[in-house]
Amino acid sequence: MTLVAFSNFIDGAFDTPKTTFESIDPSTGAPWATMPAATEADVDRAVEAAHRTLHSAAWASLTATARGKLLVRLGDLVVANAGRLAELETRDTGKIIRETRAQIAYVGDYYRYYGGLADKHEGSHLPIDKADMDVTIRREPIGVVAAVVPWNSQLFLSAVKLGPALAAGCTVVLKASEDGPAPLLAFAELVHEAGFPAGSVNILTGFGHDCGRRLTSHPLVSRVAFTGGPSTARAIVRNTAENLAYTTLELGGKSPVVVFSDADLDSAANAVVAGIFAASGQSCVAGSRLLVERSIKAEFLDRLKHKAEAIRIGDPQDPATEMGPLATPRQREWIEKIVAESLASGGTLVTGGKRPDDHPHGFYYAPTIIDAEDPALPCVREELFGPVLSVLTFDTEAEALALANDTPFGLASGVFTTNLAKAHRMARDIHAGVVWVNTYRAVSPLVPFGGYGQSGLGREGGFDAIRDYTRSKSVWIRI
Ligand code: NAD
Repeated sequence: MTLVAFSNFIDGAFDTPKTTFESIDPSTGAPWATMPAATEADVDRAVEAAHRTLHSAAWASLTATARGKLLVRLGDLVVANAGRLAELETRDTGKIIRETRAQIAYVGDYYRYYGGLADKHEGSHLPIDKADMDVTIRREPIGVVAAVVPWNSQLFLSAVKLGPALAAGCTVVLKASEDGPAPLLAFAELVHEAGFPAGSVNILTGFGHDCGRRLTSHPLVSRVAFTGGPSTARAIVRNTAENLAYTTLELGGKSPVVVFSDADLDSAANAVVAGIFAASGQSCVAGSRLLVERSIKAEFLDRLKHKAEAIRIGDPQDPATEMGPLATPRQREWIEKIVAESLASGGTLVTGGKRPDDHPHGFYYAPTIIDAEDPALPCVREELFGPVLSVLTFDTEAEALALANDTPFGLASGVFTTNLAKAHRMARDIHAGVVWVNTYRAVSPLVPFGGYGQSGLGREGGFDAIRDYTRSKSVWIRI
């Protein structure tokens, strides 16, 4: 089979790569494309182009309104090309076509939202305490942005960085993950078609240890926007010790979903199942810890077991498929290790816990539920990034809250109850950047998103995200 060849997009041109690697289709385990492995020299070229462009007439003299129009055009192009981008993302990551189509449709909304905000972002004029002075605070683009994303939802995780960065007037070098980079490298064609000046947006892929390290420590980079795992985040922070770039980190999670006995159990069960098994559990907000009130535990677990066993596993390109493979074999090995350790340490398997028999090829793993009981089990502590739900039981609201907060992470959480006061108390006291009450996984460009503790630093989404790509300049004038 001839492999499809992809290129990096640097300084407005699609490069013929000098070094490449093969990308694997996770549903078959076979290579399907060759990807460019950007070298440190490629990174240098991209950062230098972004730096040159930052102050160039082609970019710096564009008004905020003109930049906004480019972003809106890009959003329109993403929507017009959603089918092709979704197919590529499904092919390269194994995420099911239903999910990639739905997600890419709203990626367009993020670009449109930040396009609309580009000329609404203002500085200020201060009522200064000196009669002979006039002070204005200008907000200027912070500089060249290094954006680094993981393999899951690459188009979405890029939009929450590129949108506000370009609206603010920054230029960007975006590094796609070496796992599943196809949709982002194809997206580069849309950046080109939208009319962004050469060098303002550069998109490349390569490996973390050379390309990622060089990019995030580059002396011409002023801002790093990272999404990925906590151990990589530590490496990134060490890299930025070199350039002192302002850095935001969107990391992992071990999100609790609390189901009280007074909840609408039907809708809670649907949300819990979608919360953990969507994207085969490979989502930073996966609701991977279920905390259920003891009086409804048996009934609720029974509902979940039936729903999990009814999930249609199959070819991710088939619109009827409800769960696809994991993205990489190492991902599956990690999940298998933690599940085995947890069962050996006292966890009880409710369902799953194995590779599905009828999918011998590809990196499939069955929807799995473990009745953990012990909060110290590895499946309760570790982020698995896979389709594994760990169940803990509580008797009182205080116990539910203590269990919910018993994690170094703090990204998302869910609360299911029909008691309004209880919902408010839980929402106030849970340590997480997002609390969903009687729903799970709702997102919008208007709403900030980010974690507490080991789940990250800073927020993406919403109006304030643009400010995070600017720096202030205080101008004092004697009058
Ligand atoms: P990862 O941390 O292994 O890789 C992320 C990116 O960092 C990749 O592009 C990789 O090449 C790059 N990288 C690796 N080493 C680097 C280095 N030394 N210097 C610079 N860059 C380097 O993450 P992954 O396995 O691809 O993705 C899974 C993780 O991402 C999970 O922990 C998940 O929770 C997290 N995630 C978080 C969010 C969020 O918004 N909070 C969203 C999606 C995924």
